[in-house]
Amino acid sequence: MIKLRILPDGPALELPAGSSLAEVVRGIPDAAKEDIWGAKVEGKVFDLATPLPDGGTVEIQWIRKGDNLALEMMRHSCAHVMARAVMRLFPGVQLAFGPTVEDGFYYDFLTPRPLSEEDFSAIEAEMARLIAADEPFERIELPREEALALCRDLGQRFKVEHIEEGLKDQTALSFYRQGEFIDLCSGPHVPSAGKIGAFKLLSVAGAYWKGDASREQLQRLYGTAWFTEEELQGYLRRLEEAKKRDHRVVGRRLELFLIDPAVGPGLVLWLPKGAIIRRELENFIYQELIGRGYQPVYTPHIGRVFLYETSGHFPYYADSQFPPMQLADGERYLLKPMNCPHHVMIYKSKPRSYRELPLRLAELGTVYRFEQSGELSGMTRVRGFTQDDAHIFCTEDQVADEFRACVEMTQYVLGILGLTEYRVRLGFRDPTSKKYVGSDETWAKAEAALERVCREMGLPNLSVERGEAAFYGPKADFLVTDCIGREWQLGTVQLDYNLPSPQRFGLQYIGPDNAPHTPVMIHRAPFGSLERFVGILIEHFAGAFPLWLSPEQVRVMTVSEQAESYAREVAAKLASAGFRVQGDYRPEKISSKIRDAQLEQIPYMVVIGRKEVDEGTVSVRHRRRGDLGTMTLDNFIAQLREEIQTKALR
Ligand SMILES: [Zn+2]
Ligand SMILES: [Zn+2]
Repeated sequence: MIKLRILPDGPALELPAGSSLAEVVRGIPDAAKEDIWGAKVEGKVFDLATPLPDGGTVEIQWIRKGDNLALEMMRHSCAHVMARAVMRLFPGVQLAFGPTVEDGFYYDFLTPRPLSEEDFSAIEAEMARLIAADEPFERIELPREEALALCRDLGQRFKVEHIEEGLKDQTALSFYRQGEFIDLCSGPHVPSAGKIGAFKLLSVAGAYWKGDASREQLQRLYGTAWFTEEELQGYLRRLEEAKKRDHRVVGRRLELFLIDPAVGPGLVLWLPKGAIIRRELENFIYQELIGRGYQPVYTPHIGRVFLYETSGHFPYYADSQFPPMQLADGERYLLKPMNCPHHVMIYKSKPRSYRELPLRLAELGTVYRFEQSGELSGMTRVRGFTQDDAHIFCTEDQVADEFRACVEMTQYVLGILGLTEYRVRLGFRDPTSKKYVGSDETWAKAEAALERVCREMGLPNLSVERGEAAFYGPKADFLVTDCIGREWQLGTVQLDYNLPSPQRFGLQYIGPDNAPHTPVMIHRAPFGSLERFVGILIEHFAGAFPLWLSPEQVRVMTVSEQAESYAREVAAKLASAGFRVQGDYRPEKISSKIRDAQLEQIPYMVVIGRKEVDEGTVSVRHRRRGDLGTMTLDNFIAQLREEIQTKALR
């Protein structure tokens, strides 16, 4: 017997054991069930075909067309339809995996010949036919041996291998069937193929079976699906715009950064122009930190392995680190993967009193992590990066205020850069799991404090995800939407009950009661890293940085040779007033000089011709607003100062 309660205010039902949501939906009038595709059942996503858990009362919440979870179900279902179409067109295809990814899905195949974009229209046409036929996704559950036999019968050797190795503990396995197409899959799926809205194949790339370069090379076919054609077209437009803004392309064109194989993959060389942007951001962040009560520190790039054994970063995370280096005396050192242990040693350098808390230690700390080479990408996925890191040591009672201050600082800095669309995702523990350190009481208090702060601040689209906390404490992730609607995960604020504990570093402070207490540690790096943040900014601004961040702020250019000496005088005055200025005195047409400056996204162009020489003035152009007319140099300088001081976005 299954007892069911439909949230938020639906009826309580009783169903025979083994029932699925399809039986519940059957009792609902047609009009009301039209858009029900599944439900959240105790936090897990169930489709209509999956048997409900037995025993106790189960609480469910419908998932309807239009919901994010419904979109995921639809995209994964579209991956099945794509796989079925590919198998019809290319007999002998071996199926690997077909998960969803951000904004779409892929499926990995071993195909008789490599696929190319020229195959897309035929595959899409076959998919359209399958969707029009609107066959249901039928769920089949089989005991392990029968499941293996079925995959052998189907000749699907990757599936056989997956059951034998990846799923070796499963006693029963599920399949989803559509006509001749049967796929080993845990679901969930939309009720039938006709529910799939607008779709499109996007690209094809090579991938290895289970990511292992010693195994078969597969074809990874990427696609996307949306509820409506209009949403699909909007997405394709964003994709097109994103390509133009790609920081790897813009970064090369504007000479901002470089990744050279001679130095190493994932290791960023900041070119002079990129270094200016970074330095301006660092100065800005530094000023904010000082104003908000942080104390900057510096720590070395390496530390003894012993330190990371104490913190637990070694050997547990050894896979994601550069291997240790060993000295002649046998001592081993690690390139630091985290700044935390170094900051902890600064905290521990003397006895601490509650009067010193919160102690906020900040560092633009460079860390090194060994990302898999397939995961490296421009500045956003790298092997060496500088975090805008800080560690706050505080009492439990100070957690809420410290967290609020972190969110406020992040909002402020993002706002200055025009990144005003922003949300916070809270990762809380799964109260039924035993993996977390720290007392139940502490966790409950901290989680309530974080959520309360977010609600009080009126943060939009706040989400709470149970089971997403780190084992050592709850966390908040910052996700920001850029001007073309893409969401980026920036840094996090994480509470930590582990590192300060007696089992790790044994941190203490003397409380007002004269007794020793364990502080709470907060890790926070609101922008993640400077590399990633600048990569995002390059795309957000499409290379047209606000004046205060622009590597070259003003370009002085001459109409004719006679104007050169006055133009040089103007450039020198601008430079001595503190602006980053270059001169273009080539014997070229002024129109082509302006075009070059526009392409380089220089905010201001100063055009010097005979009239300006005679009158002792300057003619000013802006990269977006065009001709701003003639003015005195003093007047122009005052305008520039104002724009830089206010960090205006133009
Ligand atoms: Zn599936
Ligand atoms: Zn940390």
